[in-house]
Amino acid sequence: MTLLQIAEPGEAPAPHQHRLAVGIDLGTTNSLVATVRSGIPMVLPDEDGRPLLPSVVRYGDDGVTVGYPAQNAQAKDPQNTIVSVKRFMGRALSDLSDVRRFPYHYTDLPGMVQIETRAGRKSPVEISAEILKALRIRAESNLAGELEGAVVTVPAYFDDAQRQATRDAARLAGLNVLRLLNEPTAAAIAYGLDNASEGIYAVYDLGGGTFDLSILKLSRGVFEVLATAGDTALGGDDFDHRVYCWALETQGIGPVSPSDTRLLMMKAREAKENLTLHGSSTLMATLFSGETITATLTAETFTAITQTLVGKTLAPIKKALRDAKLATTDIKGVVMVGGATRMPQVQRAVAEFFGQPPLNNLDPDQVVALGAAIQANVLAGNRAPGEDWLLLDVIPLSLGLETMGGLTEKIISRNSTIPIARAQSFTTFKDGQTAMAIHVVQGERERVDDCRSLARFELHGIPPMVAGAARILVTFQVDADGLLSVTAREETTRVEAAITVKPSYGLSDAEIARMLEESHANAAADMTTRALLEARVDAERIIDATESALAADAELLAADERATLDEAVARLRHLVNEAGADRRALVEATEALNRASEAFAGRRMDRSVAQALTGLSIDTLR
Ligand code: AMP
Repeated sequence: MTLLQIAEPGEAPAPHQHRLAVGIDLGTTNSLVATVRSGIPMVLPDEDGRPLLPSVVRYGDDGVTVGYPAQNAQAKDPQNTIVSVKRFMGRALSDLSDVRRFPYHYTDLPGMVQIETRAGRKSPVEISAEILKALRIRAESNLAGELEGAVVTVPAYFDDAQRQATRDAARLAGLNVLRLLNEPTAAAIAYGLDNASEGIYAVYDLGGGTFDLSILKLSRGVFEVLATAGDTALGGDDFDHRVYCWALETQGIGPVSPSDTRLLMMKAREAKENLTLHGSSTLMATLFSGETITATLTAETFTAITQTLVGKTLAPIKKALRDAKLATTDIKGVVMVGGATRMPQVQRAVAEFFGQPPLNNLDPDQVVALGAAIQANVLAGNRAPGEDWLLLDVIPLSLGLETMGGLTEKIISRNSTIPIARAQSFTTFKDGQTAMAIHVVQGERERVDDCRSLARFELHGIPPMVAGAARILVTFQVDADGLLSVTAREETTRVEAAITVKPSYGLSDAEIARMLEESHANAAADMTTRALLEARVDAERIIDATESALAADAELLAADERATLDEAVARLRHLVNEAGADRRALVEATEALNRASEAFAGRRMDRSVAQALTGLSIDTLR
């Protein structure tokens, strides 16, 4: 009654590998994916080196496109090119005030509005999943591996329905969601404020189309959102519009056609961004009407024409402070998020309002994704040893269970922030095994005997199957109070057994420190022990498999073949039972048995295929 971990053929489960985890900023206009590499958070670019993925999905004649190609097709195919889908997540048509801004055909289903496209009716969840899928693929090709999981950010004001929709979209995109994280919290983490002293922080987020202000309280390493306020119709686009109006006015040009408006708005945006970057800029355009425009935008002019817009962001700040019953002097730091916070007049206004310079040395477009990546890295269990382990909201020691050979398999790594849930598949070791013992342990060491035993329970009622066929999903869940529940479920019959334990109970900080020290001191020896135990488990598995194959199909072997196989089994069994067995010898003998049984396995396969095909008509086979 023991557990065996399922691993890919030839691939030993390797709990100490760096686990690939990403942070995703699923934005209204742009999305990003970031990861932590060698301790440094970084955004992962596309194949052309571009960090942003426009959050645009197009259902074209020849399939779905996402990002820049979709964005480029927006003007020519607006109804099938979905922008700003984030605004529709978890929302019914009646919840939305600005749907008429978009040229879509809506269907109002209970719960969430749907959009009719060339490819049929699409839910915002499916559309967002396309964006997330593109980011997953980008990450997997950048990191050359499969992702362990992702942290996806959401606005702090998102309600349950919007959060659930985001989570569903991520799942649909094939992502394992480690956590949904509030965008302002992610930004604060990117600035390392979670390691800073406790206090209250403001996050000022001015993007392309929206403004959000959040007030966060950091205590004991956990961020709490105290208040949020904002304006869903205020952002960088409005600054573009001011430049556009100014350009027409100074040139004495009257109303222009829709295509000239689009062109001029684009030029206005370029002029605005260049002004921040270079201190001066000239807007030059030849309109479709034939008129040409050359207008030089100075910093003074730009500041003057956008003054009211900057002023408009102060009202929500005051509201949020009022809601949280705070004064500006209570704010310990201000984090700047969103491309539009690059504008110097915005920086100045914020500094003046709060009486302190804002934190702005990270790229404001990337800061949310970077913070999410840092959080994902922690949740995936990649933190360096010794970091932050006394924080109350993290698990001080890894939680896992006993697998074959008295080894521990870590399910939730230490330092994971709670609440957290993790599941892993296991299978049976013996043919016909109908029960499984689950032994829950805590600690960093490789051998169960060196860890702390937390609980034991059994799962009964597994239908008898050949070894390795049953799928037992073991789920570890630690709630916000640090309570651990472990559930084991056999997936075909759905029989289930569960237990709840309080893992940190009775462990003092000193004990935790001792267990960690021991695990570091013994790391090398533990790895050797683990490797030996794994080799022994592999050997036992192949002996068992060979013996049951011999019991079933011995007649497929000639006498001399049988003798060779018996000899290989005997040799391996001898090594398995030997007290001071050497890992190399075990591995070699296992490989020898593998080779000796190859032809036999092939013949068994041929026979079972032939048996399966008997009775099938030629038609079925075609
Ligand atoms: P986001 O939604 O965070 O990607 O922000 C996009 C907004 O930031 C757009 O309105 C951009 O024009 C604006 N933005 C990006 N770079 C700059 C810049 N250098 N100066 C002024 N605004 C910028």
